[in-house]
Amino acid sequence: DVTNSSFGADGENPLRIFVSAKKDINDIFVKVEKFVQNVHEFYRSYGDEFLTSKSKLQQIESSVSKIAGIRDVLSRNNMKVAFFGRTSNGKSTVINAILQNKILPAGIGHTTNCFLQVEGTDETEPYIEVEGTRRNIESVNHLANALNTESLGDSTLVKIFWPKSKCPILHDDVVLVDSPGTDVSANLDKCIDLYCLDADVFVLVSNSESTLMQTEKNLFIKVKEKLSKPNIFILNNRWDASALEPESLDLVRKQHMMRDTDFLVDELNVVAEDEAKDRVFFVSAREVLGARIEAGQGKPVTLGNYANGFEGRFKEFLDFEKKFEQCLSKTAVQTKFSQHTLEVIKMTSDMNQLLDDIFRQTMAMRNEKMNQIKALKDRVNYIKQQFHILTNEVKHQICHLVKQVEHKV
Ligand code: GDP
Repeated sequence: DVTNSSFGADGENPLRIFVSAKKDINDIFVKVEKFVQNVHEFYRSYGDEFLTSKSKLQQIESSVSKIAGIRDVLSRNNMKVAFFGRTSNGKSTVINAILQNKILPAGIGHTTNCFLQVEGTDETEPYIEVEGTRRNIESVNHLANALNTESLGDSTLVKIFWPKSKCPILHDDVVLVDSPGTDVSANLDKCIDLYCLDADVFVLVSNSESTLMQTEKNLFIKVKEKLSKPNIFILNNRWDASALEPESLDLVRKQHMMRDTDFLVDELNVVAEDEAKDRVFFVSAREVLGARIEAGQGKPVTLGNYANGFEGRFKEFLDFEKKFEQCLSKTAVQTKFSQHTLEVIKMTSDMNQLLDDIFRQTMAMRNEKMNQIKALKDRVNYIKQQFHILTNEVKHQICHLVKQVEHKV
């Protein structure tokens, strides 16, 4: 039953790597925070002006607040996927299929000229945030109306917070960004800078019924100029249409595959030739969404609703999800956590250095005291020796004197 093979159903959820790495790093930071706080306490209470200094105390205090800052950033770290493509290629439908829910308004006549970011919330009801202002939404229709009636500029970002309990992928710290069609926004370049440069994965949703357009390519060329090696996936969507012309299916697939591979390998130079097959997929987002909604309602999937080859296309969508999740999780762990890890290593080594300095200074003081004691001991010995010599001399002289007196007597 293909529709029940949702994320992680086989126990292998690549997104969990990021989620558990985030937890592990947070645990380490809790320990480091305690350690630095202990050093701070020790340093403040020591009060020996020969051993402690104001600048060192400030260094420790700044480490304490730095860790709090990093923990805050860490708690907000997530995995971001940005979707691009021409209007009506099916970006919103792809996102909804991944979310297993009709969350973003999709369909002919509905075009958003702003960026929509879907992320999870622990609250039970969804809400949106436009330029920092929060608004509750009751349904997807309500959201569609809100987006249509608001006068939103094409560089606006609308954040849609959806209950994590309703979407497994949002539960795993994934954020999905839908962009205005590459053909409608004049400000796309500025918006990439604003909302998408921190994306871990970019997905180009193309229309398998036509060839990749230069406007679609241009956007990724721009992304490539800004990021040295962006992770790019190409989804040839609306592949269900190919079922209508089975005789040309293989040929069309081959042509798309060749053009997409040329674009990724030769034009963008973001993957090697043999890796390209893991970056290009032929899917039908509408079918996946439909089947997942039916399955979500506990209904059996009505295969008659879908064109020939549905199960194969569904499997290819699952394959796409697996590959992009692996790539997403790996990239996010590397880019987001390696910086934090480097910082924490530097911080603990600074603290160790500081404690080493105190230890060395204490040893030096102890050695100096030992030298003073030894000098005192030597002096005492010397005096004792002198005293001994003097006593012997006196004894000798008295003896001599006694002898002289006896002689005279
Ligand atoms: P967007 O403008 O790129 O976000 O595109 P939408 O997701 O709004 O989709 C535009 C229209 O294409 C909608 O009517 C969708 O139902 C339809 N659509 C999306 N994906 C597919 C698909 O895989 N196959 C077919 N036949 N239609 C699709």
